[in-house]
Amino acid sequence: MTDTPTPSYIPATPLPPLPRMLAGQKAIVTGANSGIGEAVAVALGEAGADVAVNYVAGDDAAQAVVARIEAAGSRAKAYKADVSDEAQVEAMFASVVADFGTVDICVANAGLQRDSAFTTMTLAQWQKVIDVNLTGQFLCARAAAKEFVRRGVVPEVSRAAGKIICMSSVHQVIPWAGHVNYASSKGGVDMLMQSMAQELAPQRIRVNSIAPGAIRTPINTAAWDTQEAYDKLMTLVPYGRIGEPGDIAQTAVWLASDHADYIVGTTVFIDGGMTLYPGFATNG
Ligand code: NAD
Repeated sequence: MTDTPTPSYIPATPLPPLPRMLAGQKAIVTGANSGIGEAVAVALGEAGADVAVNYVAGDDAAQAVVARIEAAGSRAKAYKADVSDEAQVEAMFASVVADFGTVDICVANAGLQRDSAFTTMTLAQWQKVIDVNLTGQFLCARAAAKEFVRRGVVPEVSRAAGKIICMSSVHQVIPWAGHVNYASSKGGVDMLMQSMAQELAPQRIRVNSIAPGAIRTPINTAAWDTQEAYDKLMTLVPYGRIGEPGDIAQTAVWLASDHADYIVGTTVFIDGGMTLYPGFATNG
């Protein structure tokens, strides 16, 4: 980090957490020891859900998230598993069900980038991103849906048998040169989400996506950690500030709650207007 960027606007004070609208529910969040996943896991815990904190590396960071959720008054436990590995995902869900009794909410959040110009992108770079960002969401959503179907609706817990939230990206609709593996994975997440939603809705399972724009996390440090990079990024964001993980977290709580019970198969874009194609504001 070479200097400290001065955002044109940052939220002055954190908003209070939403009320404990998820009391009695059990959630699993993948990639929950960093960035957006961490914020979502803590917010679900603050909203009353017990939370399984999935991570693939970084024991201390995972334990710190567990401690934050416990401090908010909910149960939490860390589960180390690679979401792109079928056996590890199946074993993790079996452990979570054994520990928590069931799963009501699955936030398939884990993701990564392996950026490269198209003509020099290796098959390994392509495959790694597809494996984690797309196949990982398939494996976790499938394991969650099996548990939702097994248990069915428990009306005193939730109107739905279960909720799946896929962490997509604005790049499910915005093409991204130099990142074709990432954009392809998120385009795939969109169809994965919609097709799952269509198939599972009759069993009272709600599947939706959140598509973040530019959120201040370790995945995209180079896009915001200098004033020059930050100012360039802001040319893409009509609202004039970078997103914070908390901007995603409270929407995830609401989307998982019965207040969003009729929302099925939708993507909620949280992007400060990035998908409004701001380049057309003065060039149309
Ligand atoms: P991050 O790097 O802070 O977090 C990613 C998390 O995924 C980490 O905990 C990482 O360890 C985990 N992970 C990576 N590979 C894994 C695997 N094989 N198994 C289990 N966990 C794994 O980045 P973030 O910004 O918090 O990203 C979270 C999600 O949000 C990703 O799906 C990303 O594509 C999406 N997203 C982020 C932004 C943004 O601007 N930050 C924008 C759009 C979408």
